[in-house]
Amino acid sequence: TKGAAMVTAVASRVQAQRKQIDEVLALFQLTREQLVDVQGKMRVELEYGLKRKTHPLATVKMLPTYVCGMPDGTEKGKFLALDLGGTNFRVLLVKIRSGRRSVRMYNKIFAIPLEIMQGTGEELFDHIVQCIADFLDYMGLKGVQLPLGFTFSFPCRQTSIDKGTLIEWTKGFKATDCEGEDVVDMLREAIKRRNEFELDIVAIVNDTVGTLMTCGHEDPNCEIGLIAGTGSNMCYMEEMRNIELVEGDEGKMCINTEWGGFGDNGCLDDFRTQYDAEVDEGSLNPGKQRYEKMTSGMYLGEIVRQILIDLTKQGLLFRGQISERLRTRGIFETKFLSQIESDRLALLQVRRILQQLGLDSTCEDSIVVKEVCGAVSRRAAQLCGAGLAAIVEKRREDQGLEHLKITVGVDGTLYKLHPHFSRILQETVKELAPRCDVAFLLSEDGSGKGAALITAVAKRLQHAWKE
Ligand code: BGC
Ligand code: MG
Repeated sequence: TKGAAMVTAVASRVQAQRKQIDEVLALFQLTREQLVDVQGKMRVELEYGLKRKTHPLATVKMLPTYVCGMPDGTEKGKFLALDLGGTNFRVLLVKIRSGRRSVRMYNKIFAIPLEIMQGTGEELFDHIVQCIADFLDYMGLKGVQLPLGFTFSFPCRQTSIDKGTLIEWTKGFKATDCEGEDVVDMLREAIKRRNEFELDIVAIVNDTVGTLMTCGHEDPNCEIGLIAGTGSNMCYMEEMRNIELVEGDEGKMCINTEWGGFGDNGCLDDFRTQYDAEVDEGSLNPGKQRYEKMTSGMYLGEIVRQILIDLTKQGLLFRGQISERLRTRGIFETKFLSQIESDRLALLQVRRILQQLGLDSTCEDSIVVKEVCGAVSRRAAQLCGAGLAAIVEKRREDQGLEHLKITVGVDGTLYKLHPHFSRILQETVKELAPRCDVAFLLSEDGSGKGAALITAVAKRLQHAWKE
């Protein structure tokens, strides 16, 4: 009959659509072999970055940080810290008491308007100094000259703990006249221009390094710092003898890997999709930070958005209508992804979130959107896990151990807020590095506290040298 024929036609259309959707989702599913391959490639890039000969061309830059030890618990004093380059810009006052390893912090969050992030370097640093002035006023600290640690979460070439030349901006920053400049000097000059207070800038620190120091303060087994947030990066303690760029063979130094650049030589192209390419092209730094763009909070929502646009074009979503909203860059922040993927959320609530984002969805739409988010964040966690597996295996081999027990200090909104990212990351590491027993320690406010700890250690050493 006619009715039955129509039902069959609808059923087979639904089936065909499902197949199209599954094909897109399949692009994000990585096999174990593929993950082992990613792990191996990361390992190669880590070694390239360390070797003098290959370093200049390495995509994983392996930057020496001149941080050579962990805090030992004797650090104490009052410090200022700046935290620039994560989700928020913050100024902090950190009070460290020795012995009991207790740290007290006061902080204020300041907005950095887009026109300042992407204006001139002078404007950016003037703004930063303005925020410091506000904070000092607020805390009643004007006139007290405190040592300052600057957490600056971008790739910097360092020649000492208090010098850092910005190699290139990443994430949402693009202020002019900063790349190739020493950002500590830029901060000092901005303080001079304002001519209102003096500060003793003691250390410039990557956020991964701050996180490592904070967690190392609690757990002596901690030798790796990981950020899975707006951006993605990892640092670890490396044997001096393996760091060809720095004189000396004794002891260890923390290396800021800047692994976000992994894949910039095309080595990840087999796993990249058209959606990854679109996100890259629409970013502030096309061709750069390809691994970061597949694994961090700033970009995951953008990958999702590109997929949704494509599925809509194919008539598989939103009744085939691409809304103005869907065309808007940056609408899917990490917090929305986290909400959409939360298992406790009923589909109706997923639809409500999409509604908030200005997207009108049917119940079927909301199921597909949730699947897309899941595929993208799962791949991100697995890729990040494969990278981490590479470093723990390297540490195990370098120490000639059958079995390695190591702790990773972690921070970042993606790791902390997303309902599945941390679990999948940990499962992947376990799977790919079975001879390593890897513990994960969440850092409480790692970048701020860590900058203060490093400043405290650096101050202690300064005094030791003077004596
Ligand atoms: C930066 C790193 C930083 C990471 C996490 C990346 O974009 O290049 O220096 O550690 O983001 O904030
Ligand atoms: Mg941070």
